[in-house]
Amino acid sequence: MSVAQLHHVIGGKSVSDPGKNARSNINPATGAEISQAPLDATSAAEQAVRAASEAFPAWAATPVGDRVQHLFRYKALLEERVDELADIVVEEHGKTKAEAIGSVRRGIDCIEHACAAPVLMMGRTLPQIAVSSSFCRTEDEGGVGIDSSVDRLPVGVCVGISPFNFPVMVPMWMWPMAVACGNTFVLKPSEKDPASAVRATEIALEAGLPPGVLNLVHGGPDVVNHLIKHDDVRAVSFVGSTRAGKYIYETAASHDKRVQCMCGAKNHSIIMPDANREAAVDGVIGSAFGNTGQRCLAGSVVVLVGDSPDWFVPALVEGSKKIKVGPGCDAATGMGPMQDAESLERVQSYIGIGVAEGAELLLDGRKTDMPEEGCFAGPTIFDHVTPDMRICKEEIFGPVLSVMRAGTLDEAVEMVNRSEYGNMAVIFSDSGHAVHKFETTVQAGMLGVNVGVPAPMAAFPFAGWKKSFYGDLHTNGEDGVRFFTKSRVTVRRWI
Ligand code: NAD
Repeated sequence: MSVAQLHHVIGGKSVSDPGKNARSNINPATGAEISQAPLDATSAAEQAVRAASEAFPAWAATPVGDRVQHLFRYKALLEERVDELADIVVEEHGKTKAEAIGSVRRGIDCIEHACAAPVLMMGRTLPQIAVSSSFCRTEDEGGVGIDSSVDRLPVGVCVGISPFNFPVMVPMWMWPMAVACGNTFVLKPSEKDPASAVRATEIALEAGLPPGVLNLVHGGPDVVNHLIKHDDVRAVSFVGSTRAGKYIYETAASHDKRVQCMCGAKNHSIIMPDANREAAVDGVIGSAFGNTGQRCLAGSVVVLVGDSPDWFVPALVEGSKKIKVGPGCDAATGMGPMQDAESLERVQSYIGIGVAEGAELLLDGRKTDMPEEGCFAGPTIFDHVTPDMRICKEEIFGPVLSVMRAGTLDEAVEMVNRSEYGNMAVIFSDSGHAVHKFETTVQAGMLGVNVGVPAPMAAFPFAGWKKSFYGDLHTNGEDGVRFFTKSRVTVRRWI
């Protein structure tokens, strides 16, 4: 099988600056090498920033209504290519085809939102905010009116650094809104599965995006450092782990950039005794094991309140055992492989940690019926987990679910709030009173009520609290528009 040689996309062209090293990527379902990409090509990063800087003045001066025409065309092209992009995602990430298609569709949702930029980036005006009497011709005229307005303007060259787990969707949280608002962009996709981001970028050029408006450069930390310290870069949007995000937030901010970092997570779902049982069990299984637990919105801890363990635990184990683990391209597969061997080792190591910590292993994902080749792990469930255990506190980012028990909702919320992360929290309950209490006391940026994975659509902001987010303005929604624009106030009088 041929191995794809991936190139950068700079100034509207494919550029093959190899850097000092290349990285090979495998299909995690088979172990076969599928692509190679440059790893530390800082010279390519420099070229990409230069291309974006040169393209900026003309693009910023292009009327917003004309800018978004490119995105309308892009959306139409993507609609025809959903399958093509999803197949690349399945091959390089390991997602099931359904999950891959869903992720591309969520990316398209972001393009649609960015197409509304002519309305979203509109400013505000307040006429006659004051009266100046110093230049009036007669006292009868009563003075000269002063008007005031605020405009939203592009910030300049923006950089996006994205993770491996949604290789098409997450870049679309970033660049479509950025370019719709008149900025130019350099995307640094994850080095672990960069082929689908390259293809999505090529399609954007096919849609007519002018050279230099959207650039893509491959690499790891060397390239990231070059970009986030660069004098010509004005804003940095990052999605990935808390460790990398905190570093990027501090480094980019100290180099005078505006920064938003959507980071790691350890999400809890609370199950109340009065919950709809089927919805709760299905919701938790889908949240914990969907995308093989590799979602920032994975519900990896469930807190069972009162007597809910009696009906919840048996159904949870039964339902999880039914998930078929296999290659994402197989229509019967419910859970694909981990994205790489390192991730698989991490999951296996955390299962060992949970056992050593004394949690009760109800389902062991090391023993699932699954292919021997590839990076497979099955669903794992630990019961009687306590808040001080590492499997409860640390982000495993794999299909490992911790079950905890609480006497009351207050106790359950307290357990959730002990987490140093605060990306998402979920409750399953039929009681308005319980849900209201949950909504007013739980500490997380995204909440679900009887919804296992409450992923906000693009018109709403997406980000967490605590160590799940560094910055001020979240991605997507109105926050996204504000992040990619700077405001300017004008005070006006005509004498
Ligand atoms: P990662 O942090 O390893 O990598 C993300 C990006 O940062 C990559 O492009 C990588 O090249 C770069 N990077 C990594 N280490 C770096 C360093 N030391 N210096 C500079 N750049 C560095 O994350 P990942 O493993 O690709 O993705 C999984 C993580 O992303 C999980 O923690 C998950 O929760 C998080 N995530 C968060 C959200 C969210 O919205 N909060 C969404 C998706 C994923």
